[in-house]
Amino acid sequence: MDERPRVRFAPSPTGYLHVGNARTALFNWLFARRYGGRFVLRIEDTDRERTSAAFEEEILQSLRWLSLDWDEGPGEGGPSGPYRQSERMAIYGPYLDRLVREGRAYPCYCTDDELEAERAALVQRKQMPRYLGRCRDLSASERLDREKQGRKAAWRFRVDEGIIEFNDLIRGPVRFDGRAMGDFIIVRSNGIPAYNFAAVVDDHLMNISHVIRGEDHLSNTALQVMIYGSFRWAPPRFAHHSLILGEDRSKLGKRHGSVSVREFRDRGYLPEALVNYLALLGSSFEGGQEICSREEMVSRFSLDRSGKSGAVFDEEKLNWVNGVYLRDADPARLYEAALPFLEKAGVEPATLGRERLMEILDTLRFNLRTLSDVE
Ligand code: GLU
Repeated sequence: MDERPRVRFAPSPTGYLHVGNARTALFNWLFARRYGGRFVLRIEDTDRERTSAAFEEEILQSLRWLSLDWDEGPGEGGPSGPYRQSERMAIYGPYLDRLVREGRAYPCYCTDDELEAERAALVQRKQMPRYLGRCRDLSASERLDREKQGRKAAWRFRVDEGIIEFNDLIRGPVRFDGRAMGDFIIVRSNGIPAYNFAAVVDDHLMNISHVIRGEDHLSNTALQVMIYGSFRWAPPRFAHHSLILGEDRSKLGKRHGSVSVREFRDRGYLPEALVNYLALLGSSFEGGQEICSREEMVSRFSLDRSGKSGAVFDEEKLNWVNGVYLRDADPARLYEAALPFLEKAGVEPATLGRERLMEILDTLRFNLRTLSDVE
């Protein structure tokens, strides 16, 4: 790689850190460490209703617990800050103005009810739901009329009819048909930028060289590529990895069982085991190796290996990996990690003493799959 990459992990603090997102963070972290680059953490907290400071703190804690340290971001600072979108609101306005001036964005006065009716009609006709452009070509006086009615404008990006194409580092060339997309909202009527717009402005201003994220964002990338084009900015390289699936091969979700890093932590998994498992998922390390140190993971990381097809989350396998890490853990490390679980089981460390407990754990370790088993 000729230049040192800059990658980012950009969670929305609307819930706990899902293992799928933790895997995305891990891939970005490994990529940055592998090529001597920078790993940026950006908090995408523009959705005021669903976002909370508690979830942000929870995500930061989970990343720290996994030892996925960031070089720039909340708590670290850095030259491209602030790193919370809610603190960047003043930045986006001039970029919207530029798109409006250049005719690439226009105000849309449609109400939610009107949009819903349009959507329902398209679905009924078995057509792809999309915005059909009712406000696309309004005259100045038509706009004024709507404003007089008290309607507040959202801002839409004017999508061209052509093909949108980009080269994905994992899946090769990807194409989308502009006609199927419809003009999309880039700034909502409350003035808050929508994800696709804020992400492009931020990725550009933060000099992000590679965007590594789940394949559920492929269609967003098509929209983002159009926004880059309209600013005449060179887009970053994109890499969309496969998602973690449940046993029924649908996207891993709550109905499949534990999905957040917090749950695995509370159930007695070691962070190094969870990281190893997430790195292993969907493939194995070179030569079929399954247990790999952090240093080896870094030196062997390749985006290709993260694969094109989804990987089924296999808790049995995770238990096995965790068992290996528990078996091989340094006694002091095992003691520290087991302490909360011992306390939960009613063992008073002060009574038995550290040395004695370490001895007990040393004999138990061969039978542990998770730290909860000490109970
Ligand atoms: N905030 C988005 C999410 O959590 C970020 C996606 C991206 O990496 O661009 O899904």
